[in-house]
Amino acid sequence: MSQPETYDVVVIGGGPAGSTAADDLARAGRSVLLLDRAGRIKPCGGAIPPRAIKDFDIPDELLVAKARCARMISPKDEKVDIPIEGGFVGMVDREQFDEWLRQRAASHGAERRTGLYRRIERASDGVAQVFFADKEEDGIEHSVRARCVIGADGAKSQVAHQEVPGAEKTKYVFAYHEILRKPQNTTADYDESRCDVYYRGSLSPDFYGWVFPHGDTLSVGLGSAERGFSLRKATTRLREAAGMTDFETVRQEGAPLPLKPLPRWDNGRDVVLAGDAAGVVAPSSGEGIYYAMLGGRLAGEAAAEFLRTGKASALATARKRFMKLHGRVFWILAMMQHFWYSSDKRRESFVKICRDKDVQKLTFDAYMHKELQRRDPMAHVRIFLKDMAHLLGLAKA
Ligand SMILES: Cc1cc2nc3c(=O)[nH]c(=O)nc-3n(C[C@H](O)[C@H](O)[C@H](O)COP(=O)(O)OP(=O)(O)OC[C@H]3O[C@@H](n4cnc5c(N)ncnc54)[C@H](O)[C@@H]3O)c2cc1C
Repeated sequence: MSQPETYDVVVIGGGPAGSTAADDLARAGRSVLLLDRAGRIKPCGGAIPPRAIKDFDIPDELLVAKARCARMISPKDEKVDIPIEGGFVGMVDREQFDEWLRQRAASHGAERRTGLYRRIERASDGVAQVFFADKEEDGIEHSVRARCVIGADGAKSQVAHQEVPGAEKTKYVFAYHEILRKPQNTTADYDESRCDVYYRGSLSPDFYGWVFPHGDTLSVGLGSAERGFSLRKATTRLREAAGMTDFETVRQEGAPLPLKPLPRWDNGRDVVLAGDAAGVVAPSSGEGIYYAMLGGRLAGEAAAEFLRTGKASALATARKRFMKLHGRVFWILAMMQHFWYSSDKRRESFVKICRDKDVQKLTFDAYMHKELQRRDPMAHVRIFLKDMAHLLGLAKA
């Protein structure tokens, strides 16, 4: 029997992480297969920072809206508008965005296949053989050989669970949203260049709710890790609070958010993970697209280094480099989520702190440009003192 085709890299999952890895590797002249099960639009608010647009050359026509203001809304309905100075947050529609990314990878030479990943076996020569079915149920099984495998198959990654020790320890927040059609006329306080963020225990006991503009539609949703908390009922309450009860519902969908980088992203042999499969959605914000694309890029670089040198230890550089760049921010965001999202009293203080110009600047520099502000170290000190004042109840109401 003839051997199945051998690729340098088989990328499993064609979301932002997998498509980026496949694109980079194909451009570098590697033979790449991009395998995606297709057929499902990724549930997502679709907000991406300018850093993602710049680093990954996202064209303007993929942005269905541009948000120039973020409104923070407290449990008592206090509203703090944070203008996004000198820039905007881009909003993408994942149906078009993901397909565009996959097409870009294909245009640079990655081969695309639709199929459902099942497992990896090792052939007698030690090379990985990737098995996949051509449809979800009762599909015919196919296989290809891969010198290296990138697992970018999302939050419930099969590749991670089968190949990488420690993947079963992932912790999730479950996020749910409804896509609504923007009506011609409405009395709702809705602005298509503004992202509204609700901090309110009744809407989410441990995360937040959002209203994000998407051009002709909008994403209204929330997240929570609390078992038994009904995300659907809470979304109904959020729609009431936002005056959007009578907006037409286009889709209702949800998915888990893995908010903690896995302890390992590779199997020490020939597999490396990227994106949600590696657990890299930012705590506090739930931002995952930029981190998935960066993870895909770093996994691609690690795979290329492994192919070049034959040293499996090169695969571990993806996680090392990611954590060097963002490990501290993930840690800070996890602490913030744990502290500020734990009671309505604290949420009220949190929104109040957001009035502060130092806080606004630091937060937006961190989000928009993925840099902790270094130019004004005193800003950190001022924020620390203000935070302490709020924590100790010394700040003026
Ligand atoms: C409700 C919600 C709102 C969100 N809002 C935002 C936001 O506004 N901004 C932001 O930055 N992030 C947001 N996120 C997070 C963001 O969507 C993810 O972090 C991001 O999509 C991760 O990209 P990925 O490529 O790692 O995984 P995914 O986008 O999940 O892509 C995985 C790919 O793998 C494929 N796949 C899965 N299993 C298999 C298999 N067995 N075989 C073959 N293919 C397979 C899937 O078809 C998919 O194409 C949100 C998430 C949710 C759930």
